[in-house]
Amino acid sequence: MSSFNVLVVEDEDAIRGMLMMVLEQSGFMPMAAADAEEAQKVLADNLPDLILLDWMLPGISGVEWARRLKKEPIYRDIPIILLTARGEEEDKVRGLEIGADDYVSKPFSPKELIARIRAVLRRSGKIPGQAQITVGDLLLDTEQHRLSIGDKQLEVSPTEFRLMHFFMTHPDKVYTRTQLLDQVWGRSVYIEERTIDVHIRRLRKILGEYGREDIVQTVRGFGYRFSLVD
Ligand code: CA
Repeated sequence: MSSFNVLVVEDEDAIRGMLMMVLEQSGFMPMAAADAEEAQKVLADNLPDLILLDWMLPGISGVEWARRLKKEPIYRDIPIILLTARGEEEDKVRGLEIGADDYVSKPFSPKELIARIRAVLRRSGKIPGQAQITVGDLLLDTEQHRLSIGDKQLEVSPTEFRLMHFFMTHPDKVYTRTQLLDQVWGRSVYIEERTIDVHIRRLRKILGEYGREDIVQTVRGFGYRFSLVD
């Protein structure tokens, strides 16, 4: 994996130091700033791939700075992960409303943080995935945005395509609706869990035309699984 630049904006020295270390160990190239003003100076010379932004900063708050960045065309597309204090649900909601891509609650495990960063980078298209994914006779082409069974092309919507992409890259595991929402739609989008059921139903109907409706399986009381095995 190529090195991604991550700008860490955190006023607490110990946490900032820990974040820098964790990022370096995971192959990222971190840059540090102790507040929004300093972060703005870093941005003058660097365009990071992602910003890890503490909510509570002295001076301009993290959320206020994020809001300003999202208004600037050159910075708008930099994904932002907000670091929030434990249990501040309202803050999380507000953070996502202003356009942050995700949030991580303190205290967090380094593993969780890195997983979140990778997921956001993937969703924003910065980490390219495999171009062609095959499972059995199913073929998903991410470049041409095509899903086919044998030589037959299936007519799926962009959302169903993303759902199939997730399923085909994560076969034989059960996912809850919440997990699917997180992984396929991302946490910055508000949709109801039953919307997933609607997409699954449509997907099954399309697959059903080829006698393959049972590869997307309902696991009662839990969620869904994609599997070629019954
Ligand atoms: Ca802080």
